[in-house]
Order: sequence, then C-alpha cells, then structure tokens
Amino acid sequence: MEKNDKKIPWFKRYNKGPVDQPAREIPDGLWIKCESCGEIIYKKELSKNLWVCSICGHHFRIDGKDYIDILIDEGTFQEFDSNITSKDSLNFIDSKRYSERIKETVIKTGLNSAITTGIGTIDSIQVSCGFMEFRFIGGSMGSALGEKFTRAVERAIEMEIPLIVVSASGGARMQESILSLMQMAKTGTALTRLHNLGLPFVSILTHPTTAGVMASYASLGDVIISEPGALLGFAGPRVIQQTIGTELPEGFQSAEFVLEHGFIDKIVPRNRLKATVAGLLRYMYEPAVKTVT
Ligand SMILES: [Zn+2]
Repeated sequence: MEKNDKKIPWFKRYNKGPVDQPAREIPDGLWIKCESCGEIIYKKELSKNLWVCSICGHHFRIDGKDYIDILIDEGTFQEFDSNITSKDSLNFIDSKRYSERIKETVIKTGLNSAITTGIGTIDSIQVSCGFMEFRFIGGSMGSALGEKFTRAVERAIEMEIPLIVVSASGGARMQESILSLMQMAKTGTALTRLHNLGLPFVSILTHPTTAGVMASYASLGDVIISEPGALLGFAGPRVIQQTIGTELPEGFQSAEFVLEHGFIDKIVPRNRLKATVAGLLRYMYEPAVKTVT
C-alpha cells in the first residue's frame, strides 16, 4: 500500500446533498461500535466471541471476573480473601476522601479490592490464580491487592501448584503512597520464594498493564503472555518523550512492539488463552502428580 493511501478518508461524505435514508437507529444496549474498526456489532455475537471483534480482532476490555469463565474449568473456582479491602491509613484526600472513593468503588463493582484470588483448575490442572479488575480504581495496586496477591503466591507454595495471574492496571495506588510502593517489594519477594521451589508463574497481561504493577509482579512471570493490542509499559509515552526529547517509534508500548523487543514471550488471542496456558503448564509442571481427575 502506498503511504498516501492511508490518508484516504474512507467514510467522508463527499456529496453533502439531502440524505434520503434516515439515520440507522441503534437500540441502546443491543449493539456496540468497535472502538478499532468502527463496525457496529450485535452485543450477543460479540459476547459469544469472548468480546473480540470478528472483523478486526480488537479485544474489548472485559472484567477481571470474566477471565475466570474463560480460563478456569466450570464450577472449579473457589474464591479466597474476598473480604480484604484497603484502609485509608494516611487520611488521604485528592478530589475526594480516599475512604469515600473506596466505598463508592466497592458499591459500583461489587468487589472489595482490585483483584479476585482463589484456586481452580485449568484443563484439570489445579492452580492458584488472581484476576485484576481495572474498574476498581484503575486496577491500582494498594495494600489490599498486595496482600491478596501475596496470599495467592503463598497458597501456590503451600499446595505446590502453579500461579496464574491476569493483570490490568494503571500502576500503584497513589492514595496509599509508600504503603502502595511497598507492595512491589512484597509481591516480588513472595514470587522469588515460588521461583526457588520451581513452581511456575504464568503472567497474563491485558490492556492496559502499566507502571507499578508492570514494574513488579506482572513482568516477573516465568512466561509472560499478552492479549493482542494491549498497552504495556511503565511511564506513559508523553512523559518518556518529554524526558528523553526524542520522538518515539510507531506502536511504542503496544504488545506487538514489546514482543519484538523481547519484553514478553507471546501474544495470544483470547480464544486461545486457556489452551495456551494449559499447554504451558503441562510443559513446565508435573501433570502426572498434580492433575485433578
Ligand atoms: Zn473491529
């Protein structure tokens, strides 16, 4: 394709005369527009396709708990520590009180923290698992998330099973200041213990996984998988550009870009996620001993 071809305004209306056809009516809630290709998609179809656009392959963001249905064998998930939630130890106030922000988010999401943890089986292999929730204050890592993550690692150690975590995060929880940053060291130390015992950790990155979470456990997986098109990185591109004073390459911080630069191991579409993780676990783990029948 010629470079100039990209500039063709595909949907520009050249004739601005009277339009005979009425605007297509889209009943609220039944249809959704693809954020990437603009196609109007029937929501039920999209849901059947695991919220991946069948035209362009765009992966819509889904809730952390949706990954339980995608990855974990039906009826095997058992949640732990669901009552753990963050405290406002610093009496922090930004545009509102942090304690208020937590309360509102708990009501909005029905969750007590930005991660759901537990155990379950993936293709009959028992795992300790965690699923981050971006809707919970941007999936930010506060003390509650750090504690639940660490307990999930400890559960894997205790039960001698692998750890699987699906990440989606804007980074550390600024309202918890140093308490939030300490979670980076805490989760990293727990993962070192898991690693020393030879138990695998598969880190699954979804859009977006950035900053403090990316700089700690999300990038510490023995295998790091990402969904296509996810934004992965530490600081945002604008900050980096201003700091180093150089224009950044195209696609910087996309999953495809960081794969090319060796930062992650594999990009896997959502419909292949479970089979890929199961395959990896069978390769890295002892299925004969640990398989649940
Ligand atoms: Zn699309």
